[in-house]
Amino acid sequence: MERTLAIIKPDAVGRGLAGRIISRIETEGFDIRAMRMVRLSKTEAEGFYYVHRERPFFASLTEFMSSGPAIVIALEAPNAIRNWRDVMGATDPAKADEGTIRKQFGSSIEKNATHGSDAPETAAFELGYFFPGIDLV
Ligand code: ATP
Ligand code: MG
Repeated sequence: MERTLAIIKPDAVGRGLAGRIISRIETEGFDIRAMRMVRLSKTEAEGFYYVHRERPFFASLTEFMSSGPAIVIALEAPNAIRNWRDVMGATDPAKADEGTIRKQFGSSIEKNATHGSDAPETAAFELGYFFPGIDLV
């Protein structure tokens, strides 16, 4: 079993897509171990996306991620990290495969509906950023 952090980003929450995305998480066979709605400050978004601090899109990305409520979710499944990224699809919705969440619900390379950790180390950091161990059921 493996855990990963998923986020339903502010674009998707704002457009009323959270229910459909959570439903997809369940039908894809992930177990939800923790879930919470958050309204990130700019500083909290910057801390979360710290690895991207030198990228040209960092300011815009952290503005966007702090622009409205998001839903953070701890997922568990065999190969959860890889499998959740496959279900989400490519970062750019225009390049994402048919049937992926970002193809279906993403509106731009930035407003791409969901987040998923990309490796065991980042999953551990990202899960810990939002959930103390006691909150993981
Ligand atoms: P995430 O980390 O959110 O799951 P990802 O791993 O597919 O997405 P990253 O390269 O880690 O993509 O980028 C993090 C986020 O930054 C993207 O999901 C997207 O919201 C935003 N982003 C990435 N590339 C660009 C870009 N060229 N222009 C604007 N925003 C971008
Ligand atoms: Mg990433």
